[in-house]
Amino acid sequence: RASVGPKYLSGLNPEQREAVETLDGPVLVLAGAGTGKTRVLTTRIAHILSQGRARPAEILSVTFTNKAAREMKHRLGQMLGHAVEGMPWLGTFHSIGGRILRTHAELAQLKSNFTVLDVDDQVRLLKQLLQAENIDDKRWPARMLAGLIDGWKNRGLTPSQVPSGEAAVFANGKGGKLYTSYQERLKILNAADFGDLLLENIRIFREHPDILRQYQQRFKYILVDEYQDTNVAQYLWLRLLSQAPSPKVVIPGRVEDANPESRDSGFDAPHRPGMTEQTAGTPTATPHVKNICCVGDDDQSIYGWRGAEVDNILRFEHDFPGAKVIRLERNYRSTGHILAAASHLIAHNEGRLGKTLRTEDQDGEKVTVTGSWDSEEEARGIGEEIEQIQRQGEKLNEIAILVRASYQMREFEDRFVTLGLPYRVIGGPRFYERAEIRDALAYLRVINSPADDLAFERIVNTPKRGLGDATVQMLHDHARKRRIPLFEAARAVVETDELKPKARGSLRDLVAQFDRWRAQREVTAHTDLAQIVLDESGYTEMWQKDRSADAAGRLENLKELVRSMEEFENLQGFLEHISLVMDRDGGAEEDAVSLMTLHSAKGLEFDNVFLPGWEEGLFPSQRTLDEQGRAGLEEERRLGHVGITRARRRAMIYFATNRRIHGTWTTTIPSRFLDELPAANVEITESKGGSAWGGTGGYGASRFDDMEAFGSSYTTPGWQRAQANRNRGGGRTGAGGHGSFEEEAATFSSSSSSGPDFGS
Ligand code: ATP
Ligand code: MG
Repeated sequence: RASVGPKYLSGLNPEQREAVETLDGPVLVLAGAGTGKTRVLTTRIAHILSQGRARPAEILSVTFTNKAAREMKHRLGQMLGHAVEGMPWLGTFHSIGGRILRTHAELAQLKSNFTVLDVDDQVRLLKQLLQAENIDDKRWPARMLAGLIDGWKNRGLTPSQVPSGEAAVFANGKGGKLYTSYQERLKILNAADFGDLLLENIRIFREHPDILRQYQQRFKYILVDEYQDTNVAQYLWLRLLSQAPSPKVVIPGRVEDANPESRDSGFDAPHRPGMTEQTAGTPTATPHVKNICCVGDDDQSIYGWRGAEVDNILRFEHDFPGAKVIRLERNYRSTGHILAAASHLIAHNEGRLGKTLRTEDQDGEKVTVTGSWDSEEEARGIGEEIEQIQRQGEKLNEIAILVRASYQMREFEDRFVTLGLPYRVIGGPRFYERAEIRDALAYLRVINSPADDLAFERIVNTPKRGLGDATVQMLHDHARKRRIPLFEAARAVVETDELKPKARGSLRDLVAQFDRWRAQREVTAHTDLAQIVLDESGYTEMWQKDRSADAAGRLENLKELVRSMEEFENLQGFLEHISLVMDRDGGAEEDAVSLMTLHSAKGLEFDNVFLPGWEEGLFPSQRTLDEQGRAGLEEERRLGHVGITRARRRAMIYFATNRRIHGTWTTTIPSRFLDELPAANVEITESKGGSAWGGTGGYGASRFDDMEAFGSSYTTPGWQRAQANRNRGGGRTGAGGHGSFEEEAATFSSSSSSGPDFGS
């Protein structure tokens, strides 16, 4: 064998090459960001294929997102110089689990065309179950139950396996029973939720060893990216699949072929093109664990809140005996300053394996930290910076804005629409497309235009007011017959006795409310009106009472919506702007700025990365700190580390001195993470966003004294001092002097201890 090897191997460093070429037995690549872990996985698949070790269909490769899977397929084609014939099993845990479940749907009492429910469907179904059980949905919200069930499924627990203590926390001990009836209902509806896609696999594998064995035989190679973020269910699923097939068990009453590769397996008999006589003929001692290769980075574990267990990576050698652990130390992505800043930040975490990372790249530009007066100035500054980058001839595709909370996106989206900058939101809907925003907009649209039937239908029974499908159907009939809008039909119908008294009363109230809001519109500021509508309609309350994990985020988004209206003169102008934003449809091919949460940015890289909102309460998130304390802080810090390490050439961090949180202006404190950045690699710059620059005053200073006590005895970056000096020197320049800041500040709420959480 030539030592040079195929082309796709050239350019790999010796450790990467070892990870690619160690094809037998378990391999763990434990390495920092940008060291080529994902590249190793892709190259490994290319290597397996071109060595004839397996056919595409005998390779199982798990990525964290569908996008990453597509990317991997694309790269693979490039490496091999031809499209891959046949399909490797390349996708997320969910997509692969779903594929397997469809094949054996009948074993889960499903048909192979079962539907996969999204969270909203799931909650609706659970609501019905709660009603049937006479459980008060207000006290025991369906969303909370959905969260519990999801948690159990993430931990691989079927209804009978849920510890009774845990099942007891919901509805005075009814949690377990509800989980059981939920599963039964799903079967009747021929539906599965996301958690089922893996959980049902695990159950089938356990209850039908013959089926498990088929898959164990099929998958000669298993590869897993982002292993640090696997949860228990995913881990169990991998464990089952990665065991060497057990000797065939004879199930009583069934005659089985002794030949494990016979037709009854349900698979084509494996054949291995290119495999040499010698290898094929050698009776290999069956290893207990097959060829599984996982890559990950404990410092990038950011899904603990969704049940991911970083322990999975720490336990790898124990779980997969004989594993070879390979460490990669050279970062190929980022410049020296960026890497140093990220490494220094993460060094403040205690629970980590620790690893060395070096780059042979130049130092490049320092990481910048920029303070802005408020979030609007922050968005303006970033917008200008982007335009400048664009003028220098760089691609928008190489620019990303990574936010901690999704509501932060709104300001950027509006800014981009104003500037005419193409952008795309990755990993979630755009701000104005979120369900709660659409609901709120629907109310405003009906006020603005009573003929907006779509809007009226959307909110007529949201929140629930006993106006179900039958009522809506009846309104439709009425409207059609008389050629009037639904809203007018409603007005007419409540004068008749066609509806049951309760529904009639409820509809009459709604019509009256809208009439009142429309009258108010003439005398009330449109932002106030929006708030009044959300409150009086019961919509805000609906989410306040909701105890699910995402309710707080939705309430934040609603506040952000009201706030965004300030920038428009009236309701009409605002709604017109919205229709423009909604209309903008960024094609996938378009050169566009990427906007996403830090969580969605995993595994990605961009030349220019903007990191706005580094303020206490927002980042680190107050909610995470409240709920998970020290562990939460460490997870937030890993998130910061993930953010910075996405950048190839420029990482630009921002913080604003004032931000609307819960709809009230709050004087914020710069994030403690800023203090944890090494001064030597950081530069303090001024916002391009214009005029107003507010300091944090004494607030920030005392905060930073605390930080010393917190254990950060590192060189405090000069930016804090610079800021203090600035304040002494008269504070803001441009619009308004220090005096006006004081004045404004007095009218703002400055409850800086509260974060963007709702803690309902
Ligand atoms: P993350 O932890 O962020 O997911 P990673 O370890 O998966 O990072 P990759 O995305 O695989 O890292 O690689 C980072 C960048 O470095 C990519 O652009 C990749 O093409 C490049 N790279 C990796 N290895 C090499 C190499 N040997 N020579 C040149 N470039 C490389
Ligand atoms: Mg990667």
